[in-house]
Amino acid sequence: MSLVIVGSVAFDTIETPKIRRERIVGGSCSYSSLAASFFTNPKIVAVVGEDFPSEVIEFFKAKGVDTQGLEIKSGKSFHWEGRYGNDPNIRTTIRTELNVFKDFRPQLLPEYRRADIIFLGNIDPDLQEDILAQAQNPRLTAMDSMNLWIENKPKSLLRTLRKIDVFFANDEEIKMLAQDLNLIRAGKKLLEHGPSLIVIKKGEHGALLIGKDYVFGVLAYPCEEVVDPTGAGDSFGGGFLGYLDKVQSFTEKDIRKAAVFGSVMASFAIEDFGIERFNSLSIQEIGKRFSDFKKLVSF
Ligand code: AMP
Repeated sequence: MSLVIVGSVAFDTIETPKIRRERIVGGSCSYSSLAASFFTNPKIVAVVGEDFPSEVIEFFKAKGVDTQGLEIKSGKSFHWEGRYGNDPNIRTTIRTELNVFKDFRPQLLPEYRRADIIFLGNIDPDLQEDILAQAQNPRLTAMDSMNLWIENKPKSLLRTLRKIDVFFANDEEIKMLAQDLNLIRAGKKLLEHGPSLIVIKKGEHGALLIGKDYVFGVLAYPCEEVVDPTGAGDSFGGGFLGYLDKVQSFTEKDIRKAAVFGSVMASFAIEDFGIERFNSLSIQEIGKRFSDFKKLVSF
């Protein structure tokens, strides 16, 4: 089993109505790989600057994340700043300082090329396509994207989508890319562009999976207090693909179970700032929450 995750490892400055935290560790690859690390040993491909703390890299390693593909370049790490108002589903990007991420040209190390699963976090779709060209027959490929690329590089995005099995995006992005205001129709339209599964992230309402011949909905865990919603989507992707890498089976039954594990990992990520909740999280807590999800929907 092997899962390669490509994306950002970053400093995030987060402001919620209650607290502001400066330069805490974030980035799509950080959240996804830590969430996946509870199921498998993900290999990461990312870049940081010399300002990135070595203790954090040691923390990733201690969690079983293979950091050989994490490049350390001279310069500053990627820094993103976001603000949440009273509605945790709505966030405003205050600034994005790309720094060393600007020239990020992800290269797969020889042993990474033989990965079973490749997860392309939200980066330029041309770079995502380039990574796919370096991989040798992965069993499953997945990608995330965002409105920036849908607006600015729709052709590249649709070209890359042709080579992808699982596409993750939020509901607004799915509608925008498919140019259809009905979410189900929009998801089904995107299936015609290549993927066999569209995973629509719906924030506090969970996620909707649209496969070739099934639709599956998974709730978000009913959290009474959301501390920091950042990274929920990436943690969902990490939990989802980490589970699939562990079981090495992509049947509809396993896909459904993977989606519940995705939602479980997202629900933990938002309980604390940045990646902090993954520090104390135990396998037992994950198992307990998985059972809670079962109870939530059984009748
Ligand atoms: P999520 O909340 O799951 O959508 O992901 C939030 C993470 O995405 C934050 O930790 C940011 O560091 C990271 N991020 C924000 N903008 C970008 C970008 N343009 N490229 C790569 N990562 C980004």
